[in-house]
Amino acid sequence: MSSTENTSFNIRVSSTDEVFEVPENRTILHVLYENGYEVPLDCSNGRCGTCRTRYLSGEIDHRDTVLEDSERSEFLTVCVSRATGGELVLDLEPPVDSAQPITRPIAVVNAPVCVACLNCVRFCTFGAAKIDSGLMGVGGIQGAAIVDKDLCTGCGLCAAACPTGAIEMNVNTHDVVIDAIDQFSSGPASQQNQLSKTPNSLVIFTCPQSRQTTQEVCAGDSPTKKTDAATHVVEVPCSGRVDTLQLMHAFEKGADGVMVVGCQPGECYFNTGNLHVKQRVDRVSQWLDKCGLHHDRVMMTHITPGDHKGLANAIDSLDEKTQALGLTPLHQVAADRT
Ligand code: SF4
Ligand code: SF4
Repeated sequence: MSSTENTSFNIRVSSTDEVFEVPENRTILHVLYENGYEVPLDCSNGRCGTCRTRYLSGEIDHRDTVLEDSERSEFLTVCVSRATGGELVLDLEPPVDSAQPITRPIAVVNAPVCVACLNCVRFCTFGAAKIDSGLMGVGGIQGAAIVDKDLCTGCGLCAAACPTGAIEMNVNTHDVVIDAIDQFSSGPASQQNQLSKTPNSLVIFTCPQSRQTTQEVCAGDSPTKKTDAATHVVEVPCSGRVDTLQLMHAFEKGADGVMVVGCQPGECYFNTGNLHVKQRVDRVSQWLDKCGLHHDRVMMTHITPGDHKGLANAIDSLDEKTQALGLTPLHQVAADRT
């Protein structure tokens, strides 16, 4: 019935004629959500049939366990089933307002890549992530994660903690965070905060509670910041959404220093995101020593929103340390690419 290997293909939405690529590592459901199309969703494992969608043309690799054979020439489950290639035309209504992004983020599990490690269950303080023993995970193992969309707050902690990439957010996806980092190095040379065009470049991840303070300090609105290093702010839904890949990607793009700004311990809006990301920052710090970049180039800062002075001091401290270390070799490589 189905193959285990994914190939990329295009989907066309009949009502709007919009065409989107579904890459090998994404599901149709992810791509639809990212582009504002809401499809009813429950198990996200091809088991319940809630996301059953009519298609008008295309060759389908049906991967669900719920549709009757008689239904498969007309419907597919967009959470797991795919096209074998080419173009798949879906009979979907247009988004209610295609200009509006989806306002309620949730986590979505791609069960066939889940190893049932329980990380998401442990990290989710809202009780939204669970293991469903009736689902099938990677390699056909019994049991895979499931997210209760009614309990999910969309914080993204589970996505950052998942070792296999089985969890993705419908908005604020990993790719969105990576794109936000990439914008730093791809802007025009005259852009004030452009990475790799100034002596020292800092990438600063911030949670929503700390965002305004971070933006004001980095924009120079605060008289307390001394450094004139180029700073680039990347906003995430919770500091706990920042994972090790994203931290290392900032260095790949030429950052000389990276900081994560989150709330004080005990004050995280999502309970523990600021504590989990601290552990990741510590891990990356050790990796930096191993790859010759030095542990001082990455740090976590817990602030109280409005504490411009505290944040400015922390940024100055990071800048001083990275200046003493000099630009990273990757900074030069990134500068040469632009
Ligand atoms: S996004 Fe947050 S609330 Fe939702 S399942 Fe993941 S950890 Fe739980
Ligand atoms: S963290 Fe990822 S691999 Fe582990 S149980 Fe959750 S979804 Fe599955």
